Amino acid sequence: MTLDPAKFKPASAGIMEWIDSYLNHVSSFPVKSRVKPGEILRKLPRQAPEQSEELHEIMKDLDEVILPGITHWQHPNFHGYFPANNSVESVLAEFITAAIGAQCMMWDTSPAAAELEQRMTEWLRDAMGLPPYMEGVIQDSASSASLAALLTAREVKTGFSSNLDGVSGKFRVYCSSEAHSSIEKAMGICGLGRNNLVRVDTDDRLRLLPGQLEQKIAEDRKLGFFPCAVVATLGTTGTVSVDPLPEIGRICKKHNLWLHVDAAFAGSALLLPEYRWMGGGMEHVDSFVFNPHKWMFTNFDCSVYFVKDPGLLVRTFEILPEYLKTGTRGMVNDYRDWGVPLGRRFRALKLWFVLRSMGLEGIREKLRKHIRLNGRFAEELGRQEAFELLLPPFLNFTCFRLKPDSAGDTEAADRLNRQLLESINSRGKIFLTHTKIRGMYALRILFAQTYVDEVHVDRALEEILQVAKEIR
Ligand SMILES: *Cc1c(COP(=O)(O)O)cnc(C)c1O
Repeated sequence: MTLDPAKFKPASAGIMEWIDSYLNHVSSFPVKSRVKPGEILRKLPRQAPEQSEELHEIMKDLDEVILPGITHWQHPNFHGYFPANNSVESVLAEFITAAIGAQCMMWDTSPAAAELEQRMTEWLRDAMGLPPYMEGVIQDSASSASLAALLTAREVKTGFSSNLDGVSGKFRVYCSSEAHSSIEKAMGICGLGRNNLVRVDTDDRLRLLPGQLEQKIAEDRKLGFFPCAVVATLGTTGTVSVDPLPEIGRICKKHNLWLHVDAAFAGSALLLPEYRWMGGGMEHVDSFVFNPHKWMFTNFDCSVYFVKDPGLLVRTFEILPEYLKTGTRGMVNDYRDWGVPLGRRFRALKLWFVLRSMGLEGIREKLRKHIRLNGRFAEELGRQEAFELLLPPFLNFTCFRLKPDSAGDTEAADRLNRQLLESINSRGKIFLTHTKIRGMYALRILFAQTYVDEVHVDRALEEILQVAKEIR
């Protein structure tokens, strides 16, 4: 039997203690889980229990079975992939969201959820300096938002016929060779076809080359293709490169192409006036996505999708069976029509908690701190004879490698750096990941955990230099 709500307080006390201990001692765990494939699975019973088990028994297994298989994304020595940071307030709000358990598919199913979602996206739009006509909706992920963008572009370019008849013809979408895999995935899902995603080369800082974009559009036209959309990235996942939005915007306007901006990772930087330049050219943008669940202290999932014309979005997604008809339609936002799923979580609540408790000032302060910490790391590492920075440090991100013993031996350099990364990560003190820059193996480090500080920069430097010395 499930617990009676009357038992909530005593039952939750132990769990609250657990969370308190986790949040305060997360740095005592190895950052990256060390389990082997199948190890956790073998510890889990093959069948669901027939009889009720006590919460304390489940909690015991949480510690013994589950925790060893967790990679600690909130660990201040986690410097891998991209941030997925949270905050105490967002965690607390998530409890409330679960307790309320509302389905926020339309205004009628919880008016406050719809209206709070509207207001939160307005707050963010204005704080980020996005055009005042843009309207936002919270999606589960940037992947879903980018899919929504390509579906809308497809509908617009086919006169809203492909939802009805399927896609025919050969539509092309353009992005840089560094764009996120979710764009290619969306091309397949939306029926435009992965092979119709055209990858444009990048410059020495891995930014899309607008000249080549225009050339590819012209070539495609000659070959009988229909250019449909361009996806620009503000902050690529691999190297945090920023595509030149003003030039791309002009090209899209000239050729009448949908312009979607994927700022999933680095979009939060637009909250800082000194990084507003990244969003120059926004007047040509049709849709824009960024993830507060990456670098804005709001636990996964929370991805904010802005559009220039919500009418086009709604026309792409709306479908109205009898049981969903309401008397308020047209007067309010029914967010089920703003994306793929019908059922929706009350995600605006945690944004509200985070924005109010930190304030924009507090958020900007944290972002600037991360940028400062990263700058310090890059400066110190750059001073080391044995290392080279492969790109100028940017935002919370630095890309580097150990210099090879003999210049020009690229294979040896790759091998050396792969070994460096593997050795660093196997020690469990810090966690980094890698990318490839024009085929060259490169280490990436990010300073973007909510509670990361100077000591963690020192720890990372120490660890990297130590391991480098050992493997040499
Ligand atoms: C992380 C990332 C994505 C995917 O985000 P999800 O919310 O996990 O779907 C897309 N684009 C970029 C640039 C990213 O960094």
